[in-house]
Amino acid sequence: MSEPKVPGIGRWMVLILAVPLIGQIIMVMAGTARGDSTLVLMGIEILVAFLAAFLWRQDLERLQRILLGLPTDPPRLPEIDRLGSYLGQSKGEAQGRVAELDAALRAERSIIEHLPEPLLLVNAEGGVQRLNEAARQSLGEDTAAVLRHPLLRGAIDRALTSGEPQAADLLFAAPVPRELHATVTPLVSGLFAESLATILLVDHTRERAVERMRADFVANASHELRTPLASLMGFVETLQGPARDDPQAQERFLEIMAQQAARMNRLIDDLLSLSRIELSEHQSPQGRIDLTQLVQRTIAGFEPRIRERCVTLDLELADLPPVPGDVDQMAQVLNNLLDNALKYGRENGRVTLSIVPVEGAPWPARPGVVLAVGDDGAGIPRAHLPRLTERFYRVDKGRSRAVGGTGLGLAIVKHIVNRHRGQLVITSEEGQGSRFSIWLPR
Ligand code: ADP
Repeated sequence: MSEPKVPGIGRWMVLILAVPLIGQIIMVMAGTARGDSTLVLMGIEILVAFLAAFLWRQDLERLQRILLGLPTDPPRLPEIDRLGSYLGQSKGEAQGRVAELDAALRAERSIIEHLPEPLLLVNAEGGVQRLNEAARQSLGEDTAAVLRHPLLRGAIDRALTSGEPQAADLLFAAPVPRELHATVTPLVSGLFAESLATILLVDHTRERAVERMRADFVANASHELRTPLASLMGFVETLQGPARDDPQAQERFLEIMAQQAARMNRLIDDLLSLSRIELSEHQSPQGRIDLTQLVQRTIAGFEPRIRERCVTLDLELADLPPVPGDVDQMAQVLNNLLDNALKYGRENGRVTLSIVPVEGAPWPARPGVVLAVGDDGAGIPRAHLPRLTERFYRVDKGRSRAVGGTGLGLAIVKHIVNRHRGQLVITSEEGQGSRFSIWLPR
């Protein structure tokens, strides 16, 4: 910006000279002034006017420099000097106020910008005036779609007409299912040129999903326990009544009752393991595991079942130093995977068990080890693979129950692998078999 120019000295002189000169001319014309003394007087007037104009101009220039904050000497005329110091002081105060306002505005912007929840400023038509970082991150390209939601539009209208905050629960099915709680607060009218409102969004998607999962889990667990319990109670009644004097029926029923009680026992064991593992999931395991030793110990326990199912076991065990982990939990993983391979694999089939060191794709770049259990059974249809590790999820409920499954085995495996900061990959080809591979850091 260029500095405004102080008018040149000529203009000041004309201004200062004008009145006395006109007076002199009138006096000369009226004949009341003497010619020679008038000339002297005019000369003196011109001199004084020049001096006064020079002083004024210099002082005004100084005043201008004071206002522009440039270095300068104080003005010579006392009035202009006083005016200069007053204006200089007022300017300093005004600048201080502007700086304070600027800092307050920036602080406010920064608070809004860094709020963890998405915040939007909209007008009555739902047009976005501003949005913070959380809103940009979480809504992105969906901002317009969110603002078009009829419940949110209604809340904006109500907030702006009533002047009271309004709330709305917004459900979105696509592109991803989402549940948002919106609080619309109208801004004080008069502060802005148009009616504006803030929208604060809180994402309840995860919370609601967890609530639903918890409710589903309790319902599933009670259902799983109720079935064998109902069967036990039925048999107790039969034994007390119709089968009271039938030793053969009693023997048969008692055998079924023992099976049902064992099923309840397995279920309770699995539920307890799951909750124990979940409690410790955030803590990394402290011990070290000799995987080869662990595999050999586990296989020894499975010998009778392997023989019973006439299964051939192929082992490929690399000689590896112990890896970090919890021996008991890893034993449970191996147990559940081998148990499934024998339950769902083919009779007279083949089960493979391998431990191989790996580093890099498809596994993480860090050195690791992959423990894999495979079978050549019926396999698992592709659609079921992503859900297999959910609690109580089974491909074939009847089959799982018939072979003594609880539906919790793979959920337990997944949680243990998570605790070990590992990865579980399930691959399966229908009619060919399934393979459960676990990567663990070495
Ligand atoms: P379950 O106690 O029912 O075996 P899991 O959590 O261990 O529960 O397994 C969940 C489901 O995954 C099983 O019901 C079964 O349908 C399927 N499944 C697990 N392992 C295998 C396998 N090796 N072959 C085929 N299906 C399997």
